[in-house]
Amino acid sequence: MKLILATNNAHKLVEIRSMLSEMDIQILSLQEIGFEEDIAETEDTLKGNAFLKAEHIAERYKGYAVIADDSGLEVDALDGAPGVYSARYAGPPRDDNRNMDLLLENLKLVSGKERSARFAAVIAFVDGDVRESFKGIVEGEIALEKSGEEGFGYDPIFIPEGYTESFAVLGEVAKNSMSHRKHAVEQLKTFLQGYLEAD
Ligand code: IMP
Repeated sequence: MKLILATNNAHKLVEIRSMLSEMDIQILSLQEIGFEEDIAETEDTLKGNAFLKAEHIAERYKGYAVIADDSGLEVDALDGAPGVYSARYAGPPRDDNRNMDLLLENLKLVSGKERSARFAAVIAFVDGDVRESFKGIVEGEIALEKSGEEGFGYDPIFIPEGYTESFAVLGEVAKNSMSHRKHAVEQLKTFLQGYLEAD
């Protein structure tokens, strides 16, 4: 089976490819199919934006199954912000460091156990009339400062529950074993196994 992954985020491509590597599925990136536009994320939910991206590509590349992921960081002390707006929290141009700096600034009066947060990811699957979505989360807290070099986005300031180091310190293998995307992809895998067998 060929599946287009509707993302321009090279990190998400690597993560999702590695998580689906043992399945008999060829994952094509937008670059590989020659799609170079930016799809505006105009919905106000992760699920809405995930379907918006998947359906845009499915409409353009008929006959292909498409998946798209939309994800974000929800901080309890900020009433769930930055949430669906995580990528552009500090305004344009998108910049991970500016986003993290703004978040740390907005949390500077918030202490220890009040810094709870979670990453959430929704993966939308579209194949003809078939539409499914899968949601994964990972609970944790926002660190007092950045640490680590791996990963992307808010990884240097997100400490998953049960750990003392950020995702960026823990590294790719550890992150991919427990992340929001991992949990969403596990559900996608179970669905795809049944879907491929029924084909
Ligand atoms: P989008 O899903 O491309 O709209 O972007 C989601 C944004 O949420 C990313 O640009 C990051 O800022 C943040 N984000 C989502 N998943 C992760 C992750 O695994 N690590 C760090 N940041 C993430």
